Amino acid sequence: MSTQETSQGLPAHLQALLEAHWGFTDLRPCQVGPVLDLAQGNHALALLPTGGGKSLCFQLPALARGGLCLVVTPLVALMEDQCAQLRHRGIRAEAWVGNNGDRVLDNVRFGNTQFLYLSPERLTHPLFEARCVFWNVTTIVIDEAHCISQWGHDFRPAFQNISSLHDRFPDAVWGAFTATATEEVLGDIASQMPSGAHSHVAPMRRPNLAYQVSRWGDRDAVLLHDATLQHGQGLLYVQSRHDSERWSQRLQAAGLAAASFHAGLPAKEKQRRQQRWMSGQLQVLACTSAFGMGIDAPHVRWVFHAGPPPNLESYIQEAGRAGRDGQPASCILYVEDSDFDLMQGRIERQFPALKQIQAAYQWAANASYATLGEQPESPFPVTEPQHLPALRLLSLAGYFDLRECRAARAERGTITWLGSPVYESFGPSLHTLAQWIERQTTSQSMDVELTQLANHLNRAHALAPPLTSAQLRMDLEALDAMGWLDWKPASEQFELTWTMPRQATKTVTVDRSRLELMLRKIQEVEAYTKASQGCRSQHLERAFSDASHAPCGRCDMCTGDKKQWRQALKEDLARGAIRPQEWLLSKAPGHRQPLRALMATWYRSGFIEANQNWIRWSGKEAQG
Ligand SMILES: [Zn+2]
Repeated sequence: MSTQETSQGLPAHLQALLEAHWGFTDLRPCQVGPVLDLAQGNHALALLPTGGGKSLCFQLPALARGGLCLVVTPLVALMEDQCAQLRHRGIRAEAWVGNNGDRVLDNVRFGNTQFLYLSPERLTHPLFEARCVFWNVTTIVIDEAHCISQWGHDFRPAFQNISSLHDRFPDAVWGAFTATATEEVLGDIASQMPSGAHSHVAPMRRPNLAYQVSRWGDRDAVLLHDATLQHGQGLLYVQSRHDSERWSQRLQAAGLAAASFHAGLPAKEKQRRQQRWMSGQLQVLACTSAFGMGIDAPHVRWVFHAGPPPNLESYIQEAGRAGRDGQPASCILYVEDSDFDLMQGRIERQFPALKQIQAAYQWAANASYATLGEQPESPFPVTEPQHLPALRLLSLAGYFDLRECRAARAERGTITWLGSPVYESFGPSLHTLAQWIERQTTSQSMDVELTQLANHLNRAHALAPPLTSAQLRMDLEALDAMGWLDWKPASEQFELTWTMPRQATKTVTVDRSRLELMLRKIQEVEAYTKASQGCRSQHLERAFSDASHAPCGRCDMCTGDKKQWRQALKEDLARGAIRPQEWLLSKAPGHRQPLRALMATWYRSGFIEANQNWIRWSGKEAQG
C-alpha cells in the first residue's frame, strides 16, 4: 500500500477506505483535522456545525484503527439508523437498544463488531461491566458531547459515567463531538477526556442564512401572513404539542400544505410526515424541538420560530436546518415582549422553592416509613403527583432514584382541556368523551380515575358497546396526541428508591445553579431579540466566542439602518397617504418594529397626521 498523501493530506489507506465504503474522494475541510488526529492516535475534541458530516469524522479513522469503536450517544432513537447505515456500507455495527444486550454483546465479543453504539446509562450496566473486559476497544467516541457538561443546555448526568472508561481502556483514543457548545462547555468536555486532546472548532458562520427578529404587531397574525408568502420547504418551530397542532391547522386554513410534528405522534406517523415533507408533498411542518435530530434535508428555505427558544444554542441548531444546500435561506424569530416573562415563569415552576422541596422529602419519608438514619431498600410508588417536580430535583441531587415504570398502566391521571371546540370528525366514543371533558374542565385541570369515569360515561350516555377503562385510556392518549387536551397519567407510573439514608428534613437542600443557568440562557435570547445595533450573525457567534467574522450583510440589522428607514418612509409619504398596517407588512419582518417606532416619533413631532386608517404628511418638513 502506498503511503503517498492526497491533496488533503489524507494518507492513502484512509483515502482507500473513504472511497471503498463511502464512495467519496474528498472530505469536507472541517472533517480533515479530526479524522487525521484520531487516525494518528491523538485525542480530539471537535465542534462542528449541524450537517458538518460529524459521523464520518470518527467512523473513518476508527475503521482504519481496527478493533472496536464504542460510540456513546444520548440519541437512542438514532442509534439503529446509524448502525443500519454502517451495515449498508459493509461495516459491522451494533446498537445496544432496549433488551437486546445479551445478543448484541455476544456479537461484539465473537463477531468482530467494529462499532458498538450505546447510551451513557449502559456504561454502569452489569452486562457491560462483565463483558467489556474481553473487548479490544481502540476508539471511544462521545457523541453530543455537550450533554456531559452541567453548563450545557442538555445536561445528562449519566454522561459522567464516561470517566470509568479511562481505567477500562487506557490505550483507546478519544474523540468528542458536538454541534453546539459554548467555550465554557468545551472546557468542561476537555476536562473529562484524557489530557492533551486537540481542539477543532469549525467556523460557525453560514453566509447564506439571513437572520431576522420580528417584534412588531400581533405575533401569530404577522407570522401567518409572512408564512403564506414563503416559497419552498419550511419549518415552523413551536413550543408545545398543542401549539404544533394549532399551527398546523392555521397554516392549512391559510392554504399551505402543512402538518404537525411532535413527540406525541406514533413513530410510524412521524416517519410518514417526515417523508412527505422531505419529498415536497408538504411545504411546512409545525414542529416542536423533537423534529430535526439526524435529519439532513438540504433544501429548507425558511425556518421560523413562533416564540423564543429556551437558549441560543438550540436556536442556532434549529435555525441551522435552513439552507444546507448553500442557497439563500431565511431564519426569522417571532416574539412578543410578554413571551419572556411567560418563559421565565415556566422555568421557575420546574424549580420549586426549598419549602416545597422539603415537603416532598417529608412526604417520601412518610410514604416509605423511613425513620432518621434509615434507608429502606424497596422502591415505592409516587402517589402524589404534585411532588414530582421536587422529587425530580431531589433525585438529581442524589437523595433518591426516581424511575418511570411503564409496565404499570395508569388507572388515574389529570386532564386539562386545551380549548378547541371542534369535534365533528370524532367517532362516537371520542365525541362523548371530548364533550364531557370540555363541559367539566374548560381551562382547569381535573383528576380522574379511569374505571369510575368509564362507568359514569356508560351510564350517562348508554354507550354500546360499553367503554372500558383501557379504551378510555387510548381515547385520552389519542386526544392528547391530537392536541385537544393534555393527558397526564398519574404518578403511580413513577417509583422512588432511597439512595442515601433519610436525614432531617430541614437539612435537605438542592443545587439551584441549573435554575440560574436556564434563566441566564433565556436572558441571552431576550438580549438577541432586543439588540438594536450590530449584526445578528455576529451576535450569535459572540455567544460561542467565535466573533472573528465581518458583519454578514444579510440580516435585518445589516440590511437596514435609521437613515434608510427615514428615507423609505419619507419617499412613500411623498406619494400620498399610506395605510400603516399594510405598509409595514410589506417590509422585511425585522424592519417593521423600528419603522413603526419612527412613525410614532414623527406623529408626536407633528410631521405626520393620522386617522384610524391612514397616515399622511402634515406638510411640516421632517428633519433628516
Ligand atoms: Zn448581519
